[in-house]
Amino acid sequence: MLPKEWTIILQYQRSSINRYNSNMKQMRELISINDLRKTYIMGMEEVHALKSITLEVAKNEYMALMGPSGSGKSTLMNLLGCLDTPSSGSYYLNGENVSVMTDSELAEIRNKEIGFVFQTFNLLPRLSTLDNVALPLVYAGMNKSERNDRAVSVLESVGLGDRITHKPNELSGGQRQRVAIARALVNNPAIILADEPTGNLDTKTSIEIMEIFEKIHENGNTIIVVTHEPDIAEHCHRIVKLRDGLIETDERNQNIIKASDPSHKYKVK
Ligand code: ADP
Ligand code: MG
Repeated sequence: MLPKEWTIILQYQRSSINRYNSNMKQMRELISINDLRKTYIMGMEEVHALKSITLEVAKNEYMALMGPSGSGKSTLMNLLGCLDTPSSGSYYLNGENVSVMTDSELAEIRNKEIGFVFQTFNLLPRLSTLDNVALPLVYAGMNKSERNDRAVSVLESVGLGDRITHKPNELSGGQRQRVAIARALVNNPAIILADEPTGNLDTKTSIEIMEIFEKIHENGNTIIVVTHEPDIAEHCHRIVKLRDGLIETDERNQNIIKASDPSHKYKVK
C-alpha cells in the first residue's frame, strides 16, 4: 500500500502527463476537434446541427466528408473554415485554439490558413481570371507585380496559363472551377475546403477537377471535400460520414481510385 500522499502525487502526475499528451496532439495535428457542438436557435426551437464531433486531421490528408442532406456537413465545413463559431467544444487549427477567437481573429486565420472552393465557383464576373486569382493577395499586402507573378504561376499549375485575360463567362464550368481552385491555392493555405466542388459539373469534367485535387494533394496540401457522390469520394484517401450531426463512420479508403489513371472508368466511356 502506498501512503495516501504518494497516491495523490502519482495521480496528479498522471493527469498532467495526459494533459501534456493531449496538448501535444492538438499541436501536432493540423485539425484537432473535441466534442464540437453547434445548435441553431430557430424561434422557440433548437436545431442540434452538430451533436458531438471529435475529429483529428493530419497534415496532407485527403478526406471526403459525406452524409445525407441535413446531416451537418455544411455546418462542420463552416466551423472548419472559421466562418462560424461552435456552441461548445474545442477546435485547434495548426495548434491554435480557434474556437475562442473573435470575428476579426477568425478572419485573419481564414485568410492565412484556408482556401475555399464552392459548388457555384463564386468568381467575380467583371474581373479577369488573373485578377480573380490575384485578389486574395491584395489582403496579404503583396505588391502588384508579385501578385500577378504568383497568380500566373498558380494558374499555370491548374492548366489555365493561356486563359488569364478571360472573364468567367468566357470560360467553361470546369475552367471556372479551376480558376476557383487557383484562387484557393494562391495564398498557400494550410487546408483546402471544397463544398460539393463538382456538384455543377458533368462527370468527365468532375474527374478532371478531382485530378487537380489529386495533384494538389501530392504536392503536400491537406484537402477536405464535401460530396454526396460516392464516385467522387472514392478518389479520397479517408472517408468520414455524418448522420444526424454525429460521425457515423470514419474509414481509410481501401480502394482509392486515381483520377489521373488513363483507364479511369469515366475517361474510357
Ligand atoms: P448538410 O450540409 O449536411 O445538408 P447542414 O449543416 O446544412 O447539413 O444542416 C444541418 C442541420 O442544421 C439541418 O437540420 C439544417 O436545417 C440546420 N441548419 C443549418 N444551418 C442553419 C441555420 N443557419 N439556422 C438554423 N438551422 C440551420
Ligand atoms: Mg450542405
